[in-house]
Amino acid sequence: MSAQDDLLLDVEGLNVRFATPEGPIHAVNGIDLKLHKGETLALLGESGSGKSVTMQAVIGLVRSPPGTVTATHARFDGMDLMALKPAELRKVRGPRIAMIFQDPFMSLDPTKTVGSQIGEMFRVHRGASRAEARKNALEMMDRVRIPAAAERIDDYPHQFSGGMSQRIVIASAIALDPDLVIADEPTTALDVTVQAQIMDLLNELRREMGMTMILITHDLALAAETADRAAIMYGGRIVETGPMESVFSDPRHPYAIGLLQSIPSMEGGTDRLQPILGTPPKLTRAPDRCSFEPRCAWSRPRCTAELPPLRTLAPARRCACHFAEEIAHDDA
Ligand code: ADP
Ligand code: MG
Repeated sequence: MSAQDDLLLDVEGLNVRFATPEGPIHAVNGIDLKLHKGETLALLGESGSGKSVTMQAVIGLVRSPPGTVTATHARFDGMDLMALKPAELRKVRGPRIAMIFQDPFMSLDPTKTVGSQIGEMFRVHRGASRAEARKNALEMMDRVRIPAAAERIDDYPHQFSGGMSQRIVIASAIALDPDLVIADEPTTALDVTVQAQIMDLLNELRREMGMTMILITHDLALAAETADRAAIMYGGRIVETGPMESVFSDPRHPYAIGLLQSIPSMEGGTDRLQPILGTPPKLTRAPDRCSFEPRCAWSRPRCTAELPPLRTLAPARRCACHFAEEIAHDDA
């Protein structure tokens, strides 16, 4: 299979703007994303950088108004999602592109047993009978390692812990063997020990099913353990992208360098974070200069005069800093 056949998602020139009483918010600005089958891409960046809106826009979940989505194209398995009608998109979302969100209790219906919620995927999309759907639901509960699944299939979401509930959400998400799973901060709402268990589960499922995943997270350490590739967002743009290991060991964008320094070290513990000083950019205008410049230790006149394009530094490495070649992360 050529690299081209292998391409599952190919987004180019994605923009999202929101109309607000205070004026427009340019939440996503000229994003390009490519994802190959079997790959896991981490979409990284601090809160408000546009990670969630980017993926919501791709799968047609940005409401208009207030949102306006434009793109050159957003191809999924060859079809342009931007050109699909809402009814066609609904056939893609769920069965072919599944989503896992931060708070499992928001995704689950409190009035239905977990077995019927998972089973619904098979009934609605596969025309399964009640008995078949129940059998399939039980298999899925086993697959996401819910202990004593047969005894718990008729329980309601509130009878499960946060971690077990997220397993139920994952079971529903992967029930129809989707081509792509988008996990938006899937562990952020959970306790630290439970976070690791959920990530382990997602990693096991990735291996078992050859799952293709976009992992949205603000947690670079978590991404480093999971993803093949990283795309780091700042102010609604991708500022750095490349193979995870390469970005992790040799970040080139000053924001990426800062993000790495804010990872707790083994010795330092979780309370020794080195946050990046300053505040995130206001998104009231389309970017026409480097939006990280006000917080950047390497700021120079060119940074405010010219928007740094996302340019190729090395094979598979791209960075949106005019001075990426000159910056080394130990002289910050
Ligand atoms: P992230 O997921 O990286 O934390 P989001 O993608 O949720 O960030 O948000 C990106 C930006 O878009 C933020 O500034 C947010 O306030 C803005 N935004 C998101 N939804 C809306 C909306 N419905 N109306 C106005 N602004 C929005
Ligand atoms: Mg988000």
